[in-house]
Amino acid sequence: MNKTKIDWATMSWNPVTGCLHDCPYCYARRIAQRFHGLDGVGSDGLLELSERRDHAFPAGFMPTFHKYRLDEPVKKNKPQVIFVGSMCDLFGDWVPDGWILRVFESCKEAPHHRYLFLTKNPERYLNLYYKGKLPEQPNFWYGTTITNQTDYERVWRRLANLPQTCNTYFSIEPMHGEINLGFMPPWIIIGAETGSRKDKKIPKREWIESIVLACTEEAVFMKESLRPVWGDNLIQKYPW
Ligand code: SF4
Repeated sequence: MNKTKIDWATMSWNPVTGCLHDCPYCYARRIAQRFHGLDGVGSDGLLELSERRDHAFPAGFMPTFHKYRLDEPVKKNKPQVIFVGSMCDLFGDWVPDGWILRVFESCKEAPHHRYLFLTKNPERYLNLYYKGKLPEQPNFWYGTTITNQTDYERVWRRLANLPQTCNTYFSIEPMHGEINLGFMPPWIIIGAETGSRKDKKIPKREWIESIVLACTEEAVFMKESLRPVWGDNLIQKYPW
């Protein structure tokens, strides 16, 4: 578990790494490829490790379960806001239920922290919920990433269909277009694309304003990456 530069969390924790979504703007894939080790994945395309390897990403960006990291939250006494899985999509369809449940168990063993989960595949939250496997803990937050209106239309019902005992949020990052939000979870994070990708898109101020105006009771958190567009008065609210 490491201190993070991500401004809405204090630490990131990666018991699982790797992702198959193939987003063109992915920073995690670039890092994983840089620190690629020599391990291969099994016939199921997955790798499980009980012990630490020399390389941080033994199978590059292929899905890897670092079981030896599961006790990291319980070893940290001071309460933290932990982004779980900054280098993966823990709820990707390729991730076995068993991996996710082991991660949930580790979180439950250290209830003094707040855990922020984030996925592009919120269908999996519902899927786990219907199986009675999605914890309804007050310190667990289930987020989904959206970047434009098409993403929003695809995913909003997934969060809306979770019970109110499950905390939810949107992470609109990188913001790639105007988004008209009908369903509003209690927390909305907004960020711009970073890095120097050739097709990088800069959000327009009016796209951000329309979200801020729509949020009457919901907390908005603007990431530092919005500063060049929004200016110095970034709104940075938490729902807790
Ligand atoms: S979902 Fe996240 S980790 Fe996966 S490819 Fe996209 S940006 Fe990278």
